[in-house]
Amino acid sequence: MAKKISTRNVIVEMDGDEMTRIMWAMIKKKLLATYVDIRTEYYDLGLKKRDETDDKITLEAAEAIKKHGVGVKCATITPDKNRVKEYNLKQEWKSPNATIRAQLDGTVFRKPILVNNIKPGVRSWNKPIIVGRHAYGDVYKNTEFKVPGPGKAELVYTDDAGCELFRGTIQEFNKGGGIIQGIHNTDSSIRSFAKSCMEYALDQKVDLWFGAKDTISKTYDGTFRDIFAETFEKEYRDKFKKAGIQFNFTLIDDTVARIMKSEGGMLWACKNYDGDVMSDMVASAFGSLAMMTSVLVSPNGWFEYEAAHGTVQKHYYKHLKGEKTSSNCMATLFAWTGALRKRGELDGTGQVVSFADAVEKAALDTVEKGAMTGDLAKLADPQAKKICSTEEFIDEIVKTLDAIWK
Ligand code: NAP
Ligand code: MG
Repeated sequence: MAKKISTRNVIVEMDGDEMTRIMWAMIKKKLLATYVDIRTEYYDLGLKKRDETDDKITLEAAEAIKKHGVGVKCATITPDKNRVKEYNLKQEWKSPNATIRAQLDGTVFRKPILVNNIKPGVRSWNKPIIVGRHAYGDVYKNTEFKVPGPGKAELVYTDDAGCELFRGTIQEFNKGGGIIQGIHNTDSSIRSFAKSCMEYALDQKVDLWFGAKDTISKTYDGTFRDIFAETFEKEYRDKFKKAGIQFNFTLIDDTVARIMKSEGGMLWACKNYDGDVMSDMVASAFGSLAMMTSVLVSPNGWFEYEAAHGTVQKHYYKHLKGEKTSSNCMATLFAWTGALRKRGELDGTGQVVSFADAVEKAALDTVEKGAMTGDLAKLADPQAKKICSTEEFIDEIVKTLDAIWK
């Protein structure tokens, strides 16, 4: 058994719901607590506690991340009508992720975990493609209207002093109705997005790609292009040069074509809708939801790590019935190692960073040796040697870790 190490400063730990809550506890007990004393500040974001505290606990957790800089979060239920009944809730609480994102003003980056026995759907992709989605505005905060019949739709802007500065015709509907929609974004949100992307490209030492439709949408998408260019020139050109990485802007369709032909290994910054669609395409091409990690990076240098998947509800109901599950803990485990590595880097504790590396290596080696959960066994080539239950898989990783962490 190796000497036990410890973290210097605090990691904000946010517990969650259902099957991921079960895996969370197993990871902590079996894979972390034996090897490292982690100083955490614990927030229970499980649905019951959120309801009890009128969701104040989520805001407190977000404040704690601002204070300590690094957080790790378990998947949580975003309640809908069924959950209100199931948990007898006071109301349909908002998504904790949305609450935390709004507090930290961050951008979410999703990164696939690659193993050599799961081949990506796109043959040339042999390095991870990180997708950064701008999670504010555009069609997600729209005003739309179903035009009932002939009439005129206009776009009007009136400033705070009451002056009409702009009036433009969207469409004159002559023969029957149609649809219209108004969308917006703000300079400050786009600037935060650009900064978060540039910070994370530096953190990961990968090129940054950004595409928009600025030839068609000269003002709207053109503003995204200009703010990225300005942020890069003012703050990041020298840093990128020093790190040996590049920033490329192209038309979004050109970006898509180039991504498909690339070997991967870049951070792809996407506008809100592009990110919604493309992150699911990239995720499925790399194999499994359970192999996708996610980190919220704020332009202020705060980091929150989590798995990209949900609480794996179906497996949890099986677990409650006493049946064996084969849930994959990889993404949740990598959320912990991501937070530990960042904590170690910020604190200058090399051993903590090395430990995070060792746990990730142990997890990858375990799968590559052929021991894996059912979701991966469906995709593995060569075939899995052992299809593990949730707990057996963690035990296999512990065995591998014991051999490399001394
Ligand atoms: P989910 O938890 O992502 O699971 C969907 C399906 O994907 C599972 O049924 C399972 O497929 C597979 N899967 C996902 N993670 C897996 C893992 N670690 N190991 C093995 N298989 C895995 O989505 P959901 O069941 O639709 O959502 C459940 C709850 O999660 C919802 O209440 C939602 O609000 C919440 N949610 C939270 C977050 C978050 O906190 N970040 C994100 C998304 C959803 P099979 O059943 O085929 O095995
Ligand atoms: Mg989507």
